[in-house]
Amino acid sequence: MTKHIFVTGGVVSSLGKGLNAASIGMLLESRGLKVKLQKFDPYVNVDPGTMSPYEHGEVYVTEDGAETDLDLGHYERFTHSDTSKHCNYTTGSIYNAVIMKERKGEYLGKTVQVIPHITNEIIECIQRLDGPDTDVAISEIGGIVGDIENQPFLEAIRQFGQRTGRENVLYIHLTLVPYLSAAEEIKTKPTQHSVGMLRQAGIQPDILICRTEKHISAEIKEKLSLFCNVDRNAIIEERDVKPYLYEIPLILVEQGLDKLIIQKLGLKTNGNTLHKWLAILDILKNPQQATEIAIVGKYICHQSSYESIYESLIHGGIGNNARVRVRRVESEDIEKNGVQTHLEGVKGILVPGGFGVRGVEGKIAAIRYAREKNIPFFGICLGLQCASIEFARNVCALKGANSTEFEVNTPHPVISLLEEQHKVSHKGGTMRLGAQPCIIQPGTKAFSAYGREEISERHRHRYEFNNGYKELFQSHGMIFSGRSPKDDLVEIMELKDHPWFLCVQFHPEFKSKPTNPHPLFKEFIRASLGT
Ligand code: GLN
Repeated sequence: MTKHIFVTGGVVSSLGKGLNAASIGMLLESRGLKVKLQKFDPYVNVDPGTMSPYEHGEVYVTEDGAETDLDLGHYERFTHSDTSKHCNYTTGSIYNAVIMKERKGEYLGKTVQVIPHITNEIIECIQRLDGPDTDVAISEIGGIVGDIENQPFLEAIRQFGQRTGRENVLYIHLTLVPYLSAAEEIKTKPTQHSVGMLRQAGIQPDILICRTEKHISAEIKEKLSLFCNVDRNAIIEERDVKPYLYEIPLILVEQGLDKLIIQKLGLKTNGNTLHKWLAILDILKNPQQATEIAIVGKYICHQSSYESIYESLIHGGIGNNARVRVRRVESEDIEKNGVQTHLEGVKGILVPGGFGVRGVEGKIAAIRYAREKNIPFFGICLGLQCASIEFARNVCALKGANSTEFEVNTPHPVISLLEEQHKVSHKGGTMRLGAQPCIIQPGTKAFSAYGREEISERHRHRYEFNNGYKELFQSHGMIFSGRSPKDDLVEIMELKDHPWFLCVQFHPEFKSKPTNPHPLFKEFIRASLGT
């Protein structure tokens, strides 16, 4: 039988519920248990696919092509559990499902209401994780306790605990225990209030994880225990961990959180593989070498916009026993101040995915700099598209070459829409999405990275390389090293006479893990180290 853990948050948002849920998953997995993770987001958008990166941060794409919250990226990086469209639901998607059923007449004339219809729908989504392959399902409830939008989710998880049996369900509440420097005191009241609100919703938390800047004394823990009605040993202190997120599981394990969960849920464990994680942290903390990579993007100021890219670079570093410093460069700054000012001295340049024309010329200038100065370059999705424009203009002498995304009437549309995308009018979920196969040409840099001919990678884009320009590109030294077997679309291209200049139309960053760095990130970092 699948046991369930629910992770809620209180006091303020951005406490790292996703990272904590992922860390708990990792700890349980290291004890031989099979885990699955999912997230409920209380906003009304059906998915984050149409939201701006400034609003929402990165959109994480699953194998089955769902556009989801970036916390699913943490789930996949920390555990071996694959996520899917069943791992991220929003208020919008839940209502959408209920309204569709209502239109089909499935409620047989009943008045459709938040309780029980919306809450039942949420419960069904939770139960989708049940099965012989799941010992423990961890569901994160986005937002914080007390939000209006949060309420149906809290009611659903309360009912779920009641129906399933309290011994099979664990409620973990993540909260902030602030330190007031003026008073030189740690304050427990916000946590008391937040747990109070949770109890009003009928949920008594079993475990409190307290985010804090300062050590929480035994006395403070006693107070929290008494007023929140939580066992003294179930109050876990979580100090800020910078710079490595991968340390969170260790903070939790040091305080016995894994044992506590195992005991409370009556789980049967099998071995302990935590040493593998410790080995990764050892490399992170004591690397033998270092490199510096510039990311030239558009949403650089927003930490989470390129979350998976930043993490994948760290993984590439782990794979080379190296520390990776990241220089974040706004492509518009390159347009204003010139490329040298911002890129001088970097050992590698990466242009990530993106949408819209703003900042594109700065990216193109950065790519030209990488190509001409023999600096390792990695282009991802829009990065491949910009590299194609750069190559067309400056190597193939196609004046005014562009993508039709940026200039519809360009004389040389080296990047353009496929016929099927011309007909699309809806924005949500209509891109080329999810895992698709790719065939790699032996003897190329791509092949030496992957070591095999057939791979599968995740996509999220509308535009493609225009195959009409393939021969011209090839005659000037571009190698098309990866293609889609079905439509012969360009998936990977690389430069012949360059130390490492490789671009991909897909998003390799969604499949990299600290325990298994993505081969392209590993090779890119290796090239940047000059080895
Ligand atoms: N805007 C480009 C497209 O839609 C690239 C998308 C991306 O980088 N994810 O094809």
